[in-house]
Amino acid sequence: MRQSSLVVVANRLPLDDNAAPDGACEWRRSPGGLAGALHAILEQTPATWVGWNGGAGPAPDLPDVGPMRLRAVPISVDELSGYYEGFANSTLWPLYHDAVEQPVFDRGWWETYRSVNRRFAEAAAEVAEPGAAVWVQDYHLHLVPEMLRQLRPDLLIGFFLHVPFPPPELFMQLPRRVELLRGMLGADLVGFQRPQAAHNVAQLATKLLGAQATDDEIHLDGRVVRTGAFPVSIDVAEMQALAARPDVVTRARQLRADLGPPKRVLLSVDRLDYTKGIEHRLTAYSELLRDGRVRVRNTVMVQVTVPSREQIGRYRQLRHRIEGEVGRINGEHGRVGEPAVHYLNQPFDRAELAALYQTADVMVVTPLRDGMNLVAKEFVAAREDDAGALVLSEFAGAAAELPGAFLVNPHDVDRLKDTLLEAMDADPADLAARMAAMRRHLRTHDIVGWARAYLTTLDHTGRLAAWLPPVPGPRRARHQPV
Ligand code: UDP
Repeated sequence: MRQSSLVVVANRLPLDDNAAPDGACEWRRSPGGLAGALHAILEQTPATWVGWNGGAGPAPDLPDVGPMRLRAVPISVDELSGYYEGFANSTLWPLYHDAVEQPVFDRGWWETYRSVNRRFAEAAAEVAEPGAAVWVQDYHLHLVPEMLRQLRPDLLIGFFLHVPFPPPELFMQLPRRVELLRGMLGADLVGFQRPQAAHNVAQLATKLLGAQATDDEIHLDGRVVRTGAFPVSIDVAEMQALAARPDVVTRARQLRADLGPPKRVLLSVDRLDYTKGIEHRLTAYSELLRDGRVRVRNTVMVQVTVPSREQIGRYRQLRHRIEGEVGRINGEHGRVGEPAVHYLNQPFDRAELAALYQTADVMVVTPLRDGMNLVAKEFVAAREDDAGALVLSEFAGAAAELPGAFLVNPHDVDRLKDTLLEAMDADPADLAARMAAMRRHLRTHDIVGWARAYLTTLDHTGRLAAWLPPVPGPRRARHQPV
C-alpha cells in the first residue's frame, strides 16, 4: 500500500465518471463546488484523494491522475439511500440550511451513516503515511475526524465544512447531536466559511460536551481543537483565462445575438436545490412582468438549473414546481420566438459558463442560505470588462466578501423586485466601480490562497511547509481541457 503525506477525504472522487478508453482519468468537473475548489491545489501536490467513485458495488482500482493517487471507497445501493440521500441530504443538509425545508429524522439512517463514515476513516488511515495531514471535507463525513483519531493518533487531522453550520437552537434538534459534534471535534482544526459558525460550535461544545470553548479554541478531552473561518474561493486565474479565450468570447457574442441583442439579460445558474431561492426569483420576475415594470420585448431571463439529487422526492417535486412556474410565466408573458424565461435543465461545461457569464447584464443569485456560492464569484471573475451587476442574497457566504453586489433578502419579494430594477438601470460607471472592487478582492483571495491559509493553520508544526503551494498572487493559468 502506497502512502501519502497529504490525504484528502471527500464524499466524491474528483473524477470523470467515464475514464478514457486508454484508462486515463480526467478531472471531473461535477456541478458542485468542492471538486473545482480542490482541483487547483491538488493538481500540483502529491496526495491521495479518498472518496466514492459514483457507482454502486465494489470499489475499482483507479489509476493515478498526474501526481495524485485515488482510493475509491465502495458504497452499496442500500447504503447510498441511508447515508447519502438519507442522513446527509435529507437530515443534515436541510437542517444546516436554516431548515428552509423540514429536516427528516429517520432513525434507520444513522447506523448506515456511521458505518459508511467508518469505512472512509479506515481507508484514510491506510493511505496516510506516519504523521501525515488528512483533510476531511464536509457534512457527509462528520464522524470521520474522531474515528480517524482513534485509528491513527499520529495524524494531523483537519475538517472543513463547506455548508453553513446552523445556530445552536437548530443543531439541538438533531437526535444525534452529541455524536456529530464529537465526531467533528476529533479534528485538530475545524474550518468554516463564516466566523459565526465557529461561534455556534463553541456554544454547543460548552453546552453539550462541557468543554471550555472560545470562538478560536475548544478544550476537550485534554486536547485543543482550533476553529476558524476560511472562506472558500475559486480558481480566479482559470476563470479569467477561460473568459478571455477567443472561442469563448465568440460564443458569448453568439449567445447574446441568439437572446435578442438589445435585450437586458438576467442570468441565474444553480443546482436545482430548494436552498437556492429559485422560486422566489421566478416570483419576483413574474410580478415585474405582470406589473409592466419589465417587458419581454426588452428583457429576458436565462435560468440554468443543473439536475441534482433526483433520487430524493423533494428535489423531484421542486423541479416539477419550477417547471410549472416557468411554463406559466412563458405562457402568460412570452411572445412567439420570445420566451420570458429560457429554462435550461442541464449541466454546462466551464467554457460555456464563462460565455454565459459574459452575456449577463444582471447575475441573479438568491439563495435562502448558502455556505459560499461559487457561481457569484465566478461571474465576477469572468467580467474583465467590469460590466454587469451582481444581485446577491445576503444569506450567501459570498455576501460578506462582495459588498459591491446589490445585496438583497430574497424572502422580501417586493425589495427583490426593486433591487432587480435598480441593478438593471444602474449607471455603468457605478457598476464598473463595484465590479473592479470585487475583482480586486478575488484576485487576492483565490482558491490557492484558501487552501494555503487552511493547511498552514493546520500545520502548526511546520512539517508540511515543503509542499504547500506558493503564496497567492497572479498565477499563470494552466491549460484547461474543456
Ligand atoms: N457548475 C457547472 N456547470 C453548470 C452549473 C454549475 O460546472 O452547468 C458549477 C459552477 O461553475 C460552480 C458549481 O457548479 O463552480 C456550483 O457551486 P456553488 O457554490 O455555486 O453551489 P453548490 O452547487 O456547491 O451548492
